[in-house]
Amino acid sequence: MPAAYEVIIGLEVHVELHTTSKMFCACPNRFGAEPNTNTCPVCLGLPGSLPVFNKNALELALRAALALNCRVNRYSRFARKNYFYPDLPKAYQISQYEFPLAAHGQLAVYKNRELLRNVKIERLHLEEDAGKLLHDEGQAYSYVDYNRCGVPLVEIVTGPDLRSPEEARIFLETLRRTLLYTRISDCKMEEGSLRCDANISLRPWGSETLGQKVEIKNMNSFKAVQRGLEYEVKRQAEILDRGGRINQETRRWHEDKGMTDEMRSKEGEQDYRYFPEPDLPPVIVEDSLLTRIGTELPELPLPRYRRLLAEYGLTPYQAEIITGDRDLADFYEETVRIYYEPQKAANWLLGDVLKLFKQFPGAIKQSPFTPLHLAQLLKLVDGEQISGRTAKEVLEESFNSGKMPELIVREKSLGQISESHELEKVVDTVLRENGAAVRDYREGHKKAVTFLMGSVMKATGGKANPQLVIALLEEKLAKIGE
Ligand SMILES: [Zn+2]
Repeated sequence: MPAAYEVIIGLEVHVELHTTSKMFCACPNRFGAEPNTNTCPVCLGLPGSLPVFNKNALELALRAALALNCRVNRYSRFARKNYFYPDLPKAYQISQYEFPLAAHGQLAVYKNRELLRNVKIERLHLEEDAGKLLHDEGQAYSYVDYNRCGVPLVEIVTGPDLRSPEEARIFLETLRRTLLYTRISDCKMEEGSLRCDANISLRPWGSETLGQKVEIKNMNSFKAVQRGLEYEVKRQAEILDRGGRINQETRRWHEDKGMTDEMRSKEGEQDYRYFPEPDLPPVIVEDSLLTRIGTELPELPLPRYRRLLAEYGLTPYQAEIITGDRDLADFYEETVRIYYEPQKAANWLLGDVLKLFKQFPGAIKQSPFTPLHLAQLLKLVDGEQISGRTAKEVLEESFNSGKMPELIVREKSLGQISESHELEKVVDTVLRENGAAVRDYREGHKKAVTFLMGSVMKATGGKANPQLVIALLEEKLAKIGE
């Protein structure tokens, strides 16, 4: 069935900034602490307490703004967004309204390495997070944890530029990857350090005016964003097909039921009564600060992908996976600096090494296995000191213990037998013990040599240099035939 409607989606993304302390007080900004242990009069909104702006939050937000190609406003201002809800002890949230920190950015979104769209970033502003409510099933009360209250956030608002639920998911993944490169946040959707709400509307193809939009909340994973929006497209299309009207409302996605339901209608939503925050001065971004943040900004995923293609001759597939994670890309380039065989390094990294990284509980850069380890391992293989098979064993042990591959090879005497007099003895024994295979070979069944080769490898525990074994076998078999 051809779709009768064009889908219009815009996202509002909240990202917790990875500062040491909260936005307006000295409380630790840490996930997973005992409830209500990271609080003070400021973040609890006690009378007489005054907020002091954490400059580090500004620096992280500026990094995000530059990474998203935004224009930074040299003057921005905090505002109070008033609403009454138990997760907000002050009954207002400190946010930015008329004067956001940054605006007019864009982020290119690719699918299968083809440009899908340049998505506008309408604004990026600073705000504080609210507390968290915890509900006991079937009880008439709720718990509240204020540890998250006052945690610094950036809110990133896109234009109504996304044209399908899949595109929205890909955009969000691209945004996450970009922000992870800037190290402003760990961007974990499951822990809430990256959260996404969506505005979605449908309109008949060719129509210039936007349809009535609906806000969708509670989509807590990339998959949920796509599924939630797909459900909403279907729901709205059915209403429009019947000639009905879309209500202006906020809906909640239920991952378990696979549906959205009404949370509140927009008619009933309160006016936030924004006004300038009187307790905080405006945020002034000096040239020197902006220049410094710009210089410190790392190379971002897309330019790095292009450079890796050009500089190392990687395939698009390899470059895409390697630059998908800044740590992995750093690991790769560090390895290639010590061991200049870009293709071999990429093959090992994306094969056996990546498998081990995936099982490793920490970040790649915390692993005891470093680029120095990988480079040394590959040099051992190149020098025929160990076979490819042994290299895999050494890799695993090196990964688990952090020992250098050379040391492991020495300690376990895993070195490849490349001394021909040593191998000769083994080859002679094998030939003696396998008369049938030798006869087969002499009768023209050349494949018998493979069997003999296998026997030599077995007898040496896989440590024999295969080229040398073949050469010795052929030499000796020829002699027997004379
Ligand atoms: Zn506090």
